[in-house]
Amino acid sequence: MDCLFCKIVKGDIPATVLFEDDDVIAFEDIMPQAPTHFLVIPKRHISTLNDLTDADASVVGKLQITAAKIAKQKGISDAGYRVAMNCNEMGGQTVYHIHMHVLGGRAMTWPPG
Ligand code: ADP
Repeated sequence: MDCLFCKIVKGDIPATVLFEDDDVIAFEDIMPQAPTHFLVIPKRHISTLNDLTDADASVVGKLQITAAKIAKQKGISDAGYRVAMNCNEMGGQTVYHIHMHVLGGRAMTWPPG
């Protein structure tokens, strides 16, 4: 499958990996939109949030728990940070393998635009 993030999972494309286990991998975003900006993704290919099923509940939970652990390690937990997942074109998704953005190190604005 010609998926950029599957290639990162396989190690075919380099990434600055922050954490990985059997289910998830976290790595630095290549075009950071904040002083801290990393992504957490499931290793298994899931194209969009619309494709989730009940069977994905544990891996989706793990994305959030992993994000929070790394945020703590990076020292952005107490000040606060933003988590975002974009779905399809109107949601601003450009890579069709679900991913959780974690942004911190600056004050976020709302609405995100
Ligand atoms: P957007 O590109 O509008 O943020 P997404 O929500 O689909 O849409 O996010 C894809 C993210 O993947 C972007 O933040 C982009 O910088 C990041 N990205 C793209 N290619 C790579 C890569 N090779 N390594 C790390 N991050 C990447």
